[in-house]
Amino acid sequence: MNIPVRHTSSIETKTAHHPLVYLNGEIVETQNATLPVTTQAFNYGTGVFEGIRGYISHEGENVNIFRLDEHIRRLLNSASLLLIDDIPTADEIQKSILNLLRLNNARSDCYIRPLAFKQHLLPGSGFGVKLSGVSSGLSINTLNMRSYVKQDGIRCTFSSWRRIADNAIPVRAKITGSYVNSALAIESARLSGFDDAFMLNTHGNLSEATTSNIFIVKENKIITPPVNAHILEGITRATVIILAKERLGLEVEERDILPSEVLMADECFLSGTGVEISPVIQIDHHHLKSINDESTTLSIRNIYQQVVRGEIDNFSSWLTPVY
Ligand code: PMP
Repeated sequence: MNIPVRHTSSIETKTAHHPLVYLNGEIVETQNATLPVTTQAFNYGTGVFEGIRGYISHEGENVNIFRLDEHIRRLLNSASLLLIDDIPTADEIQKSILNLLRLNNARSDCYIRPLAFKQHLLPGSGFGVKLSGVSSGLSINTLNMRSYVKQDGIRCTFSSWRRIADNAIPVRAKITGSYVNSALAIESARLSGFDDAFMLNTHGNLSEATTSNIFIVKENKIITPPVNAHILEGITRATVIILAKERLGLEVEERDILPSEVLMADECFLSGTGVEISPVIQIDHHHLKSINDESTTLSIRNIYQQVVRGEIDNFSSWLTPVY
C-alpha cells in the first residue's frame, strides 16, 4: 500500500503550540484540552473566533498584543449574533489572554486564538441544529508564530467559489462554519500552484482573499472594497487605512472593484492579522509592481511593522503589553 507523504506547510513548520490552554475557566495542558464529539459547534460550525498577534517590542523587552480591544470587541459581537451569550466579559477575556500568555512564558512573536462556541444541549432541549437551548463555552489557545507569508510576494488567482453572501451567513462575524468557504477556495488555488485566492461576491465585485482583505494601488491612490462588499471588516484593513492616510498622506478609496481593475492595478497587497501586509506580485498570469523599489505596498508594510513593534509612539495605544 502506498502511504501518502504528508506535506507540512510553511505555517506548520514555523509555529509551536504553547503547553497550556484556557478552556471554560480553567487552565489545562494543551494535549488534555478536549471536547466531546457531541459538541454543537463541532457538528454545526456554530462557533466564533479571533486571530490576534503578539509581537516582541522593538527593544526586545516585552511582548505587545496588537489591537487586543478591537479583536475582543469583534469576538463578542460575533458571539452575540450566534446567541453565544453566557461567556466571560471583554475585561475577563482580556485578563485570561494575558494570564495564559504569562503562564506559557510567551517571549516571542505569538498568535492568540480565542474561540467562543455552542456546547451542550440544555435540559429539555431536543437534538438538532439550533442556537437557543444550547450552552456556550470559551477556549483560548496560543502559539509561537512569526511571519509565515513569503516576504518577496505571493501569487493569487480568482476563485470560482464566491465569497459567502451576508444574507447566507453574516460576513461581519468570524464564524467557524464560514471558513468552509475559505478552505475550499484556498485549497483549489494551492492545487493549481497559487498561494491564495481572490473571491468575488455574489454581485461579481471583488470581496476579499481567503483570510485577508485586498488593497490595490493605482497612481498613488489605494483602493479597497467597501464594507458592504460582503467582506469581514478586517482590523488590519482599518489599520492600513489609517496609516496610509496619516503616515503616508495617501488618498484611500473604499469602493467596488471589478476583477479587470485588479488585473490592471499597479500594485496589490493583502492585509490580515495572520498574513500581515503581503505583497501580491502576480494575479493569474498578470504581473504587478508590488515589490519594486519605492512601491507603496512596501512603504505600508514597513510602517505596519514599525507600528506593531512599538517603534512609532503615536500608535502605542494599539499595543497591550503582556508583562
Ligand atoms: N477576511 C477573513 C475571511 C479573515 O479570516 C481575516 C482574518 N481575520 C481577514 C479578512 C482580515 O481580518 P483582520 O485584519 O481583522 O485579521
